[in-house]
Amino acid sequence: MRASAAFAVSGGGFGQSPAGVPMLIEIKELELHPVDFREEFSPGAIDLGAEVRQRTQLATEGRADLVEEHHDKHQVVQDIRLKGKLATSLEVPCARCLDPVALPVERSFDLLYRPLGTDAGHEELSVTDAEAEIGYYQGDGLLLEDALREQVLLAVPLKTVCREDCKGLCSHCGKNWNEGACSCADEIEDPRWAALKEIRGKLNQ
Ligand SMILES: [Zn+2]
Ligand SMILES: [Zn+2]
Repeated sequence: MRASAAFAVSGGGFGQSPAGVPMLIEIKELELHPVDFREEFSPGAIDLGAEVRQRTQLATEGRADLVEEHHDKHQVVQDIRLKGKLATSLEVPCARCLDPVALPVERSFDLLYRPLGTDAGHEELSVTDAEAEIGYYQGDGLLLEDALREQVLLAVPLKTVCREDCKGLCSHCGKNWNEGACSCADEIEDPRWAALKEIRGKLNQ
């Protein structure tokens, strides 16, 4: 009885957001029908690495289809086509001053996932839709989170600045120059001026 009581507590639904459950798009299911999805992922549900922070829910919707590639009479390769869109808001550090910068992301995608290892050894592809980007899935299917992670990270520019004229940080004391100047420039003397001073000093003797 104890076990069933524990089960009742954990299965109560509270605190169990559907967004926390990884969504595996299975080949087995795609063989029967396309899979439509409409999901929301809370910040942290998708690992975006150390630099990128997700500020709001990530909303996504779309459809997964099975695409069969007939290589010859006996070999059929089962691809997953993933088409949809996503929206969220990210935060990345400014490339100059490291202050957090908000980065809204809205993106549609049309991707083709082939079984991992399919392309090993032979180059010839008979991809149905040339516009689809190609990735690979492993095992029974594709984890939606993996596809989304890739799409979100692709939306992050190589360099983001908080503003065009961001002054950055002083490389000497680390002061954020957007908040004012530091006194480093006065303290660190240019060696050429130092040399001039020395000459002047000698001339004045
Ligand atoms: Zn900045
Ligand atoms: Zn400084």
